[in-house]
Amino acid sequence: MSNTGKLVVFSGFSGSGKGTIMKELMAKHGEDYALSISATTRDPRPGEEHGREYFFMSNEEFEKMIEEDGLLEYAQYVGHYYGTPKSYVKEQLDAGKNVILEIEIQGALKIKKQFPDTVLMFVSAPGADELRDRLVGRGTESEEVCRQRLSRAYEESLGIEQYDYLVINDKLDECVELVNDIIHSSDDTDRNQDYLVSSNIDFINKMRKELLSFSKGE
Ligand code: 5GP
Repeated sequence: MSNTGKLVVFSGFSGSGKGTIMKELMAKHGEDYALSISATTRDPRPGEEHGREYFFMSNEEFEKMIEEDGLLEYAQYVGHYYGTPKSYVKEQLDAGKNVILEIEIQGALKIKKQFPDTVLMFVSAPGADELRDRLVGRGTESEEVCRQRLSRAYEESLGIEQYDYLVINDKLDECVELVNDIIHSSDDTDRNQDYLVSSNIDFINKMRKELLSFSKGE
């Protein structure tokens, strides 16, 4: 695969607002990016459309894509398959676009292995309480699924050190501009020093501790 555009992975805890950040980023700076649309076997949420947020499909359809080698990566997340269709990403990179994949950590690491120049960004809410409130407050998942997603958030927090950048979604507009700036200057680690994962270890450890106590039901 020729790699003229830049590949960027954007991951974050469920409830961190990453979907909203991506929507805003595309609305404000869409000419710079192509946002990959994933395939998934989970049900659409109210307002989600096939071909816009995801390609919603059955287990059989998804497994057929795996067999036909149609996915760049795929993973299971809280009982469902999620994967990145190959063709769109390839076309957009070849056309020189920066391609963003909004995917979870297992997929992120598979992509980094295949494309070592990929920029890995992780987004978090400012604290675990906010994360839980946003996740429960949006009302799109059952109590049990929220619990599983919080427990998954703890597991994901153990892998954040493998990412390049961490951004905190406190004020949406600022966060969107920050993400855009970092992507454009991702090689300049001096300029982006404050947002390197390695500069935010205290924050990460605090989130981990709080997420662990949530996942134990405390
Ligand atoms: P949600 O159900 O909240 O839309 O997504 C659940 C998780 O799956 C999120 O962390 C999201 O980033 C991740 N995800 C979405 N699409 C993909 C994909 O194509 N591959 C992988 N590995 N994860 C994905």
